[in-house]
Formats: sequence, C-alpha cells, structure tokens
Amino acid sequence: MDIIRIKDKQFAVSIPETDILRQVERIAGEINRDLADRNPLFLSVLNGAFMFTADLMKYVTIPCEVSFVKLASYQGVASTGIIKEVLGINEELSGRTVVIVEDIVDTGFTMQRLLESIGTRNPREIRIASLLVKPDKLKVPLRIDYAAMYIPNDFIVGYGLDYDGYGRNYRDIYTLCAAQEQNP
Ligand code: 5GP
Ligand code: MG
Repeated sequence: MDIIRIKDKQFAVSIPETDILRQVERIAGEINRDLADRNPLFLSVLNGAFMFTADLMKYVTIPCEVSFVKLASYQGVASTGIIKEVLGINEELSGRTVVIVEDIVDTGFTMQRLLESIGTRNPREIRIASLLVKPDKLKVPLRIDYAAMYIPNDFIVGYGLDYDGYGRNYRDIYTLCAAQEQNP
C-alpha cells in the first residue's frame, strides 16, 4: 500500500517499517549502553508514541520501568501552539533517570512544556528519545539525546501518528502528498 487516503487527504509511503525498526533498534542500543546502571523510567507520550514505545521497549534489555503521559497540542495538520495540561504522571520521579519517549519533535513546544513539568519533580536527569525530529521547525533549543530519524517539514502519519485521529494503525510512515500542504 504505497498510497493511502485518510479523509480528504492522500499520503504516500516515505519510511517503510523495516527502515523504522532498524533505527529504533539503533537508539535502543545507545540507551542500553548509556543507561545500563540507571534504572531508567521511560515516560511515553500518548497517543502518538504508543507504537514507537512498544517497539523500542522490545529492544531495550536493561532494567527499567515504562509509564505513560498524555498531552494535547495538535489539531488537523497545523500545531495550535496551545498545549493542554499534562495528565497522569503518578510515579515518583525524584532521583530517577527519566527518558521521555515522543513520536515527533516539531516546534519543540510540547517537549519544552513536558521538560518544565517533569523538571519540577526533582529527577536525577531527563533524556529525550524521539522517533522523528523536524530540525528545521525547532523553535526552542532542545537536546534530543536519542533521535531515530530526522525528517523534512512535511506532515506525516502512520506508525502511531494521526491525521485527525486516523492513520495511527499503519506500520509504515506516510507523507502528505504535495499540492495538499497547508501552511499554518
Ligand atoms: P510540537 O509541540 O513539537 O510542535 O509538536 C509536537 C506534537 O505535534 C507531536 O508530539 C505530534 O503529536 C504532533 N505533530 C508534529 N508534527 C506532526 C506530523 O508531521 N504529523 C503528525 N501526525 N503529528 C505531528
Ligand atoms: Mg506526540
């Protein structure tokens, strides 16, 4: 399935599952090496990171915990810039190595908000693992410790990422076909 249609838009495969998994395995290897003695807590950001988190955790072989948080900042294909409250961090973060697991860092505002929120809970350190990074759109300085892939500024779906709630179930990553791009 090279072209898919979701609601009013067409998307074409841009990153096949095999390429995704190779990069996910690579960053898991870096995490295994860097955090072997840190007992990290992985905090997966729902909904978009669910598939990435599942695959990443299969390659992580060190002692660790996994939990989930939920934020909301996106509507349709353009970031609203408004980020709703962080929900559901119930774990004790004090003294812990926390690894935020995100689907994609775009402007970076969501990540910045999350870093601020987690930072108030006195963790030993916070690291960022992101499946995708759009480096040209970053608007805040962020150190992304583990980036599986860097991509251009196009809108993508699949492998957990949605367009208006749909498309999260596809195993490959798809890019919005040209001529349909919307400038926010
Ligand atoms: P930021 O706050 O970095 O601008 O946006 C982060 C969030 O926007 C991501 O966690 C993701 O949910 C959403 N997002 C950013 N770019 C894309 C994209 O190309 N496709 C989809 N489906 N969501 C995106
Ligand atoms: Mg996200």
